[in-house]
Amino acid sequence: MEHLLVTGGAGFIGSHFVKRMIHAADVASVTVLDALTYAGHIENLGTAFLSEKLAFVHGNILDAELVDDLVAKHTAIVHFAAESHVDRSFFAAGAFLATNVHGTQTLLDAAMRHGTQKFVHVSTDEVYGPLPEGTATEEFPLRPSVPYAASKAASDLVALSYFQTYGVPVCVTRSSNNYGPYQHPEKIIPLFVTRLLRGEQATLHGRGEHVRNWLHVDDNCAGIEAALRDGAPGEVYNLGGGTDLTSGELTAHLLGICGATWDAVTYIPDRQANDIRYSMDWSKAAAQLGYRPRRDFTDGLAQTAEWYRRNPDRWAPLMRNPTAARPGRSRPSTSAGR
Ligand code: NAD
Repeated sequence: MEHLLVTGGAGFIGSHFVKRMIHAADVASVTVLDALTYAGHIENLGTAFLSEKLAFVHGNILDAELVDDLVAKHTAIVHFAAESHVDRSFFAAGAFLATNVHGTQTLLDAAMRHGTQKFVHVSTDEVYGPLPEGTATEEFPLRPSVPYAASKAASDLVALSYFQTYGVPVCVTRSSNNYGPYQHPEKIIPLFVTRLLRGEQATLHGRGEHVRNWLHVDDNCAGIEAALRDGAPGEVYNLGGGTDLTSGELTAHLLGICGATWDAVTYIPDRQANDIRYSMDWSKAAAQLGYRPRRDFTDGLAQTAEWYRRNPDRWAPLMRNPTAARPGRSRPSTSAGR
């Protein structure tokens, strides 16, 4: 716990987590390892750089030598770095397998060599696949249906195998859809908010019937911290308990917040694969980690939209030309989903 290595800490969730942990009295240092892909922005860490505890390393989790050197100097790892956008995984699956599976294995190898005290692998409800009804406990079979989710499921299993085989003290957290400030505008909430704020059309897939559970990023980070501190090695913890909404219902909330009407919504054909519903049982994390989501959805969503309204400099350049955000990165997506 004393010296934390956070991969992907310049991304959406990772940057919130770093800003949270930098204030923990028992954390002496936090090192962010981030490749700054199109999705990573060092600016996301903002005021965290005022703390002498924070160090930033621009590098790739696939760089075994760099990873080995960093892991040797840290006591715990929280692993966020990933290719995270479902739509991109439809045309760039190789990058998802490389970063999400091989990158995770590179970190695990180093953790095994250096006796890392805790390794939290951050994952997603999407590994359980679509659930038209019912709810998934941690024992539920993994049935991912899109390349992103398959790469996360594979990385979960590799991480858990390093506990079984080598005793690496791995915990896996699986959260539902996160929302909050600093999310890349390729994801549905910032995409719709930023389009509506500019008087543009929001594009809704299919008939807007897909159900997602919306969890404030602060609640996910609280759950990840709980897993880091108190999670039992080899265990998986579902972090759900947000607000279940169809994409149509979510759109209605966003129209209200942005002062727009349904005239601002264009229905577009559904993406090539779009899981109808995810749902997780998070009672294990509640019972064993004291996890409980606290953020009110209506307030949290309004505050999120307000952040995008106040910070156009953070997202407008990405909207104009998302591929140019970082040189040499993959194509952007304009569709609406995580
Ligand atoms: P993000 O795309 O905003 O951030 C990913 C970060 O990882 C970026 O800073 C990027 O530069 C970095 N990165 C990517 N490839 C890298 C590499 N090879 N080496 C080093 N750094 C690399 O993602 P996010 O939404 O913050 O998600 C973080 C984690 O949480 C991911 O593992 C994702 O699967 C998981 N997750 C996300 C959500 C969600 O709703 N956003 C929900 C559940 C789980």
